[in-house]
Amino acid sequence: MPKRERFKRVLLKLSGEALAGDAGFGIDTDVLESVAAEIKNVRDGGTEVAIVVGGGNIFRGVRGATEGMDRASADYMGMLATVLNCIALQDALERQNVHTRVQSAIEMRAIAEPYIRRKAVRHLEKGRVVIFGAGVGSPYFTTDTTAALRAMEMNCQVLLKATKVDGIYTDDPKKNAKATMFDEITYMDVLQKGLKVMDSTAISLCMDNRLPIIVFNLGEKNSLTKVVSGERMGTMVYAN
Ligand code: UDP
Repeated sequence: MPKRERFKRVLLKLSGEALAGDAGFGIDTDVLESVAAEIKNVRDGGTEVAIVVGGGNIFRGVRGATEGMDRASADYMGMLATVLNCIALQDALERQNVHTRVQSAIEMRAIAEPYIRRKAVRHLEKGRVVIFGAGVGSPYFTTDTTAALRAMEMNCQVLLKATKVDGIYTDDPKKNAKATMFDEITYMDVLQKGLKVMDSTAISLCMDNRLPIIVFNLGEKNSLTKVVSGERMGTMVYAN
């Protein structure tokens, strides 16, 4: 099992929902500000931070498709939604004097750099927070899979999956009072038990490349700082 230690370089996956606050949709500026403050804290502590942002608070391709849209077109709308969140997060971070770069998998040079792996690595080395937008740039993927891919490309030690629950449970803790939380669990168990952590493409990618995942509650104060410094919290997914 991988050690819990102070990480030097992490990939933080922020779902769109994480930026939406209680409303469940759109962007909550107070939430954004506190997320940015946590990221700043971690960055100031010397950890390099790459971020993949979701778009579910604005648009999800699957939703469009169920309403009759062509799935690929709907997914492109979802990818554009992630870019809105990226710009909002960049703005929040820069207001707190954190240097950032947004890189987009779909070219839109007026607002973001195109995704160039080596350039992104260089930004991280220089202490900039790199925010990846537009997923992998292709429909039928998710930003969770993007997070797994970028984490590997950036040589991150861990994928930190920020959620609204404390970790991975045996069952939905909101519906089943007897559900218990795993401290650690293997990728295979996550897949076999059908636990809804990330989609199976994302989990498989992490499993094949032995990239540990830590699922934690971003809503808990200082949780990101604690996870990055190696404190035991949330659930770690690993190979065994
Ligand atoms: N999406 C896509 N390809 C990608 C990443 C995302 O087509 O590589 C689309 C897809 O429609 C998805 C939407 O963008 O539903 C928003 O991303 P996601 O649902 O992963 O966001 P989150 O749930 O993290 O907020």
